[in-house]
Amino acid sequence: MRHPEHGAIYRQAGRARWRSRTTDLRVTDASIRYAVDPMSTGPSVYLETFGCQMNELDSELVRGHLRSLGYRFTEDFTTADVVLYNTCSVREQAENKAYSRLGLVGLRKKAGEQVILGVLGCMAERDGADMLRRFPQVDLLCGPGELDRLPALIDNVRRTEGAAREERIALAGNKSRRSTTLAAADDHLELLDLSRAFDPVEPGSDRRSAYVRITRGCNKFCTYCVVPNTRGAEVHRPPDSIIDECKRLVDAGVIEITLLGQTVNHYRYTHGLAVDTDGREQPQVGPGLAAFRAPIAAGDRVTTFARLLERIHNEVPDLKRLRFVTSYPRDFGDDILDVMAACPRICRYIHAPAQSGSNRILKAMNRGYTREEYLEFIARVTDRLPDCTIAGDIIVGFPTETDAEFEETVSLVRAVPFKNNFIFKYSPRPGTVAIDRFEDDVPTEIKKLRNNLLLDIQSEVSRKAHSAWVGRTVDVLIEEIRSERGQAQPESTGSSLSLDLAHPDSRKIELRWNRRQGGQRVGTQAVGRTAGDLITAIDLPESLANDHQSLVGSIVAVEITESAPLLLRARMLSSNSKTALAASESR
Ligand code: SAM
Ligand code: SF4
Repeated sequence: MRHPEHGAIYRQAGRARWRSRTTDLRVTDASIRYAVDPMSTGPSVYLETFGCQMNELDSELVRGHLRSLGYRFTEDFTTADVVLYNTCSVREQAENKAYSRLGLVGLRKKAGEQVILGVLGCMAERDGADMLRRFPQVDLLCGPGELDRLPALIDNVRRTEGAAREERIALAGNKSRRSTTLAAADDHLELLDLSRAFDPVEPGSDRRSAYVRITRGCNKFCTYCVVPNTRGAEVHRPPDSIIDECKRLVDAGVIEITLLGQTVNHYRYTHGLAVDTDGREQPQVGPGLAAFRAPIAAGDRVTTFARLLERIHNEVPDLKRLRFVTSYPRDFGDDILDVMAACPRICRYIHAPAQSGSNRILKAMNRGYTREEYLEFIARVTDRLPDCTIAGDIIVGFPTETDAEFEETVSLVRAVPFKNNFIFKYSPRPGTVAIDRFEDDVPTEIKKLRNNLLLDIQSEVSRKAHSAWVGRTVDVLIEEIRSERGQAQPESTGSSLSLDLAHPDSRKIELRWNRRQGGQRVGTQAVGRTAGDLITAIDLPESLANDHQSLVGSIVAVEITESAPLLLRARMLSSNSKTALAASESR
């Protein structure tokens, strides 16, 4: 039997096997679009993603790629032909979750089921080939920089019973740190980015937000962090490729784009340095930190992050919202703030992790800035963009952190109008400088205590930051409709909410206003985000009862009526509810 898209499928020894042309796949042109066959009867794939937005984007690209080759996606890992985990190594907890999933698939295999198990992403890169020895049920490993090779790996495993180890592994290893511009041009993942499918491939997808990668990898080497090891050297994509991707996403119906990079403000592309034989610009390795201290020389053909933002804003006029994460608190120039002030569709939202408020700990973390510099940066932000919302990350219990140093973090959190902070307990990670240099000497109980204390303090700070919006009119991009009869609703107040909120790695909203907040009955709500990324629950008027779902994906103007630490409540402005419906109907 032949499949029209992906070659021969044949039956052997009682199980479906297939062969595809995946090994021949070469993507050489940004204009290539994978065809998607929604009626595919190809092998079924279960893909679960752990960790950051980069992983979410990687999974989206993998999904598009596999779908174009005839694979179907399923939500049920117990029946899938191929089970893939796109993993995260940032904290031990995330790794443990993935290991336990490997155990579950192992049970399927023990029961005699034919299933391919693949580990993708940072854990594959960090554990390396040794993972195949420790978890013999794992069939293939694919690092985050090699995902374009995944279909070929799956093919190899399916085609050859017990394929050779090297045919089941695609990892960058130390070659990802060869720091020449041309090595970056060879970067595999660029092919996957360029070949992104722009069709709304998810059945029933209402998705109007998308991620666009501008920089891969990281050169900062914070002592606690695995990312520079697992994702490799910092590589910046050519501005024209980024803008082209934004345009095509907007043409496909996207209205909000989030630019992704580990330190987005360090985006810098020098034109003319890396071109292919056809004169097309290629990704290039990022400059060292020193480059950001010196002014750009006259005559240098450089696209800075500020210029990139401005170009996307001006050259993609139908894009309603442009965001970016994660900002590095150092080298965030006034030029970026000026562009944010001048371009109304660039969201005034900055996620800039402080990590600690103690200079000694910041130094031990190799963060490259002091507490004073962080506060000076925040002062510049709030001075130039008074309505800009600020979010961050903090690590508590970094080795040798004393009570007094933790108190400095507390005072930093109190001093900044953070809308939220993601608070993590230090987790020693193999391969990092910190694990070699420091004993993990802050006891677990103390880490927990500091974590909970800081959550409570952040809750107060968040409450204040949110309450400043009451009475204002803002635009909200609606992401979800929640009715009173839905599943159990979490409380909308209290510090425990911070635990429910995912890191910006996830767009998932887990909040709604309480059913009987203030003794008042709450019916159906639309839940979405303001430009400043504030989660907002909008009480929907009965008159829209039949059209609730069509609101998802539209931007509506609302008046903020109440606030809680992590949530705003709003009422729809009657003037725009009709406009919103009309807009969503005309999509
Ligand atoms: N590039 C971003 C930056 O530097 O701000 C952060 C990326 S990291 C994947 C996300 C967050 O995980 C960090 O901001 C940090 O707070 C936390 N993190 C990273 N390594 C950690 C570790 N070993 N233990 C605890 N938290 C960690
Ligand atoms: Fe990790 Fe630091 Fe790079 Fe962020 S900047 S990814 S914390 S090394």
